[in-house]
Amino acid sequence: MKKVSIVIPAYNEEGNIKAFLERIQNTMIDSYEYEVIFVNDGSSDNTYQELKNASLTYSWVGFISLSRNFGHQYALKAGLDSCTGDCLVTLDADLQHPPELISKLVEYWESGIDIVYTIRQEDKNLGFIKRKTSKLFYKILNLLGGIELEEGSADFRLIDKKVVTLFKQNIKEYHLFMRGMVSWVGYSQVAVSYKPEKRFAGSSKYSMKKMIRFAVEGLTSFSTLPLKFAVYLGAIVSCLSFLYCLYVLYGYLFTSKNVEGWTSMMMSILVLSGFQLLSIGLLGVYIGKIFFEVKGRPSYIIDEFHKPNYDKNTEL
Ligand code: UDP
Ligand code: MG
Repeated sequence: MKKVSIVIPAYNEEGNIKAFLERIQNTMIDSYEYEVIFVNDGSSDNTYQELKNASLTYSWVGFISLSRNFGHQYALKAGLDSCTGDCLVTLDADLQHPPELISKLVEYWESGIDIVYTIRQEDKNLGFIKRKTSKLFYKILNLLGGIELEEGSADFRLIDKKVVTLFKQNIKEYHLFMRGMVSWVGYSQVAVSYKPEKRFAGSSKYSMKKMIRFAVEGLTSFSTLPLKFAVYLGAIVSCLSFLYCLYVLYGYLFTSKNVEGWTSMMMSILVLSGFQLLSIGLLGVYIGKIFFEVKGRPSYIIDEFHKPNYDKNTEL
């Protein structure tokens, strides 16, 4: 019997675990074996206890507890590294990704597709700002090149075991932008669109800070175009500055104008220093990435791992 692994990152999702498991149990098909692995990403609420109870109640449920909050992408990687199925489905704990879709993803997989990813239809429940910034993010990402991602891609997808193995063995990046990497690896891919639901319990765990970090991660993971952009802009500004210098020199040598020109001087200082700061910042972002990659630190640390299908009589 083929085994479907399901990995769910959970950060402070105490109110969602029970409902999630009920929903997922209803979608299970008899002809498959299932393993459900939650990744407790350093939750500070009762998520750990809920997961422990769940793993005692259902033999097919296991969970990984990370040593602190590492972030969604790293929680996903932790789950991926520990799963043992013939394919892996990842989805959010908050039921925004309907578990009923899993059987459809599995159907596509059975027809020979290696990666079945999902595209979120426009979500009316989402706030205006989140919708617009998300749109803008995918626009810029595709503009920068290096990778093509459809708008509304989420970390709700099925990947075949061979892709899982590739990730386990060969993708060693410290900075992880999962949906970019999955698109990048190639193989046969198919998109399935779905209607996102309302978050079941709790509120979004993606704070503004986390969203910005995620966006910077995504934009600088696949393209060095921002760095080149700084070079091009630098070249253009230098040319213009040179022309302006000629003009200034001409004024000094051949006319009697004196202190005039304060406005233009201030403007050029402001524009140039703004641009310089931007370029330096950009360099910083990439150098910062190199810094962490070179260190070769693990991208997550597991505190506990309760494997699914464990013997119920052994002490946890
Ligand atoms: N998540 C996580 N670690 C974090 C933030 C989020 O594991 O630091 C999980 C969260 O529990 C959820 C998924 O990632 O299962 C997506 O997060 P959320 O639903 O809050 O994001 P949104 O849907 O609002 O973008
Ligand atoms: Mg959500």
